[in-house]
Amino acid sequence: MTVYKRAYLEEAHKHSSNHRKELENDHQCGCFYCQTIFSPVEIKEWLGKEEGDPGGTALCPSCGIDSVIGESSGFEITPMFLNAMYKYWFDPDYSKKEEIEVDDEVYDWREIKNQEDIDNLMRIFHGFHDSCIAAVHYRSGYYVDKERTMSQHGNHEVNMIFHGQWETRLIELCFENVRKIYIDALKDNYMNDIYAAYLKFHDILIKDSLLGDKTINVIVWKDNDEFDISDLNGKIKDFGTSFVIADSLKWRIIEDL
Ligand SMILES: [Zn+2]
Repeated sequence: MTVYKRAYLEEAHKHSSNHRKELENDHQCGCFYCQTIFSPVEIKEWLGKEEGDPGGTALCPSCGIDSVIGESSGFEITPMFLNAMYKYWFDPDYSKKEEIEVDDEVYDWREIKNQEDIDNLMRIFHGFHDSCIAAVHYRSGYYVDKERTMSQHGNHEVNMIFHGQWETRLIELCFENVRKIYIDALKDNYMNDIYAAYLKFHDILIKDSLLGDKTINVIVWKDNDEFDISDLNGKIKDFGTSFVIADSLKWRIIEDL
């Protein structure tokens, strides 16, 4: 259990406004309303000041609330910290208490290594029933440095934030070494809620004329519970669904009751 003191949470709050200059140097920031962690380059809207002015206040790219705090504030941007901030500033049951307690273990990353781990996630998040994708963050691992050299410093990773209508409201999935991702865009006049997601391990054949074909084990997530393995061969016929195919998956709870 981690205890966050009132003074600490109030000090942190000062860094959620007039912080444009601070955020421009950060690699990571978080929103303590929707509790999403993201890169400041994703911030598109600023309140208050003109572009380039150090005084601007960021609006969260996921929820639009001005509750963004960056790591150069000196506060470590973790789900626990964002959860304590959410409780203190937004939840009437906790707001303005002297101390906010957060159960750390609940928020640890959990690796999906076998069917039992899949069953556990599906049990806790009710098979993704009555949930929706709130945000998707893709990192290729590639970058171009100031000398204009292109390098790779990490895997292809996709983080997805889900909001659910059950006791666990927010979870984050992190797919590592992503092989394929398809996100079905919002359709006009339709709710984009998920009824039942699919999550399973599969062996797939990777065709590679240079290094030779090989079979690898992947994990497949899809926003409905049917899956045709032939979809993996590059012919995605059933547009209207979103899916991710990756070498591994870990997940964590961001907020529950
Ligand atoms: Zn937000």
